[in-house]
Amino acid sequence: MKAATHSPPAFSWQAWYDGLGGRTINIPEVEDLLHQIYHEQFPRFEGAVASHKRQFDSPAEAASHLKTKAQELGADIVGICEIEPSDIYRGRSIEEKFAIAVGARMRYRAFQTVPSRESAIECVRVYHQLGETVIALAQYIRSLGYSCEIEHPIGDSNLLHIPIGLKAGFGELGRHGSIIHPKLGPLFRMGSVATSIPLAIDHPIDAGIAAFCDNCRACRKYCPAKAVPDERSPEAGKDHLGNDRYIVDTGKCFPYFRKYNYCSACLPVCVYNHKEWAKDFEGYPTKKFPEVIFEEPPAPFDEVPEEEKHAYGKVGR
Ligand code: SF4
Ligand code: SF4
Repeated sequence: MKAATHSPPAFSWQAWYDGLGGRTINIPEVEDLLHQIYHEQFPRFEGAVASHKRQFDSPAEAASHLKTKAQELGADIVGICEIEPSDIYRGRSIEEKFAIAVGARMRYRAFQTVPSRESAIECVRVYHQLGETVIALAQYIRSLGYSCEIEHPIGDSNLLHIPIGLKAGFGELGRHGSIIHPKLGPLFRMGSVATSIPLAIDHPIDAGIAAFCDNCRACRKYCPAKAVPDERSPEAGKDHLGNDRYIVDTGKCFPYFRKYNYCSACLPVCVYNHKEWAKDFEGYPTKKFPEVIFEEPPAPFDEVPEEEKHAYGKVGR
C-alpha cells in the first residue's frame, strides 16, 4: 500500500540537525543508548518466516494472543488498527495490512526538572526499551509463519506513529502535539509492528481529553519556546474526533529542544499527569509539579522547505 498524496514526508532529523550546526546535546548515557539503537537494534529488524502458519480461530483470538504477547515483551499498552494510506509517510509504502501499536510509559520521576539530563536519558531509555519490544514481537510473529515489518519508535519508519496510536485507541491528541492516554497521560512513547495476520481492530476513543485541552493551557503557559498554540488550526486537518488540530510550532520547538536536553517540558506539566496525583505508578514519591527551567529560547528556526514539512512535529519524541 502506498502513502496518500497528502501524507507528510518522513522527517530527516539528521539533515535538520546538520542545518543548525549539529546536535548540541551531549550526554554519555544518551549517546550510548542511541548507539545501541542504531547499531545493535536496527540490524535485527529482518528475520526468517517459519514455513508452517499457525491458524487462529478468529481475528479476535489472534488479536488477543498478540496483545498478551506484546505485554509479556514489555509493552504497557497495545492496540491494533488497519493501516490506511494517510498513515504512511509520503514516498513510502508498506506491504502489511494491520499495525500492532505498542506503548511504554516514561517515569514521571525522571521529569521532576525539565529540561534536564535525567529527562533526556529517560526519553531515549524508553525508545530503546520499546525497540527491544518491537524486535521481539516481530520475531514471534515470524515464528508463527507470518511476515511483518518493524516500525521503531525512532529512526526511519514508514508509518506515522501518532495517527496509528490514535486509531489504536491509545488516547486523544493534546494541545502539545502528543497523544494523551486517559491513565498514562502523555508520558509514553510508541512503536509498532505491521503484519497481515487477520486481526480484530481497536477504535479511537473519546474520553473528553481533547475537549479538556480547549480550556486548559498549562503546556502553552510552560513551554519555554512559546511553541504550543493558543488555538486550533483549521488549515491543519482534523483529528480522529473531527476537531481541527493543534499545531506545535516546530520552528520554535526544535531549536529549543536540540539545545536543552530534548526539553519535554510540555509533557510533565500536562494536567493529565496530575490527574494521577503526579506519582509514579510504582508509588515512587514525586513532587506534584515539575520544576520548569526557562532558558532563553534560541531564535526560531526552520530550514525545512515548505514541501517537506509535516504536521506531526513531535512524532516519536
Ligand atoms: S518540547 Fe519544549 S519547546 Fe517543544 S513544545 Fe514542548 S515545552 Fe515547548
Ligand atoms: S497541559 Fe492541558 S492543554 Fe496542554 S495537552 Fe495537557 S491537558 Fe491539554
